[in-house]
Amino acid sequence: MRILLVEDESAIADTVLYALRAEGYDAVHCLTGGEALREAGRTPFDLAVLDVGLPDIGGFALCRELRRERDLPVIFLTAQSAEADRILGLEIGADDYVTKPFSPRELATRVRVVLRRAGGNSGSVVATEPEPGFAHDSEGKRIRYRGQALDLTRYEYGLLAALLQRPGAVLSRAQLMDRVWGDALDSGDRTVDTHIKTLRAKLREVDAEADPIRTHRGLGYSLDNG
Ligand code: CA
Repeated sequence: MRILLVEDESAIADTVLYALRAEGYDAVHCLTGGEALREAGRTPFDLAVLDVGLPDIGGFALCRELRRERDLPVIFLTAQSAEADRILGLEIGADDYVTKPFSPRELATRVRVVLRRAGGNSGSVVATEPEPGFAHDSEGKRIRYRGQALDLTRYEYGLLAALLQRPGAVLSRAQLMDRVWGDALDSGDRTVDTHIKTLRAKLREVDAEADPIRTHRGLGYSLDNG
């Protein structure tokens, strides 16, 4: 697994590199966003760990650039825990973040978890007979659809897990907000709709014909697990 680390503070980068390499990852360090884009252009990465505060283009803009060509799991290093909502929310849509100062071993663990969650794309899945509907591994926080692991963001996972709990039952936007976003401040009605939309797109990638999430106008959403 090839990991990109973009961090302009060498002392932090050194400890992270050490922890990632100890886990057996092929970790590449870049000091700036520009350098990272050149590296990524040469050989694709399986995951990126990006510092939010970079001297040139900044972590968020870099994330968008890196994801322009292909989907890439991203973990942010941030100095402010107040940024968490932005990082994990719609605006940035990262897979995870750690707040400085952090333990390099904790970061290595997050890397492993995010990679495992994204594992559906690795091509190492053994072909078995097609499974119908959804399979939810609530401990591993993974959901498979028709036998394929879904690569979901935290909120997409939360939404799908909430709908899966009671297939067929209609959940209102308010109920979904409550379960998935809790008391996050920056979320509105559109938040649910937007995530439902990205979720549907991911399900269509597995099965172009299927549309298991039903919209009930003025009421909310339900799920067919068939
Ligand atoms: Ca920095």
